[in-house]
Amino acid sequence: MTTIGTNLQDVHQRIAAACAHAQRRVNEVTLLAVSKTFGPQAVREAHAAGQAAFGENYIQEAVEKMALLADLPLQWHCIGPVQSNKTRLVATHFDWVHTVDRLKTAQRLSDQRPPALAPLQVCIQVNIDGGANKAGVVPQEAAALAQQVAALPRLQLRGLMAIPEPASADEALAVHRASRALFDQINRSGLLAQPLDTLSIGMSADLEAAVRAGSTMVRVGSAIFGSRAR
Ligand SMILES: *Cc1c(COP(=O)(O)O)cnc(C)c1O
Repeated sequence: MTTIGTNLQDVHQRIAAACAHAQRRVNEVTLLAVSKTFGPQAVREAHAAGQAAFGENYIQEAVEKMALLADLPLQWHCIGPVQSNKTRLVATHFDWVHTVDRLKTAQRLSDQRPPALAPLQVCIQVNIDGGANKAGVVPQEAAALAQQVAALPRLQLRGLMAIPEPASADEALAVHRASRALFDQINRSGLLAQPLDTLSIGMSADLEAAVRAGSTMVRVGSAIFGSRAR
């Protein structure tokens, strides 16, 4: 087995252990493999080991990689910032985008989603720990934005996403619980015809805390592919 294959097994083990600890079913948590900065061969190895969903931050890099991997049935998630001049590429090439934090971006993505493709699956990025100059809608505005995004014809609103600052295990658990509380609050509010089903939180360093808090999708890069060159 390749190193990437072994690493994937280890990450699945960590998710399973965290689910067991939290008395959650293991199939409640999806693994998104974050392949940014790694080449198509790394993605092929992960796919050969059973991984189908990949996350990318840099749109141009991602689109080039996708072209080299078009022979594989992969699902692509945009997890990086989406500037206005990149919305068309995202709408054309990705299956999911986790980083919608304003209506204008959502509107452009909906307008530009090609009619032949399924609706673009969307999460709203929330600035859950209130970092200054950080991407993400403030928590108090998440429900209103969710309602507006849910009304756009070529998008399917799926949930919330957050990227908290690195923190101690206790702090990570507290901030992930705040994301889960917001997710539950929006679902209880009755504002949405379709409940949110995706909470995209947890990375290599804090996936246990995220699963414990109620993550449904962890985004894991370095624990699968190794550390990234800076
Ligand atoms: C890079 C990245 C990840 C993966 O981070 P690791 O620490 O390598 O697991 C997850 N989410 C986002 C938004 C990222 O940019």
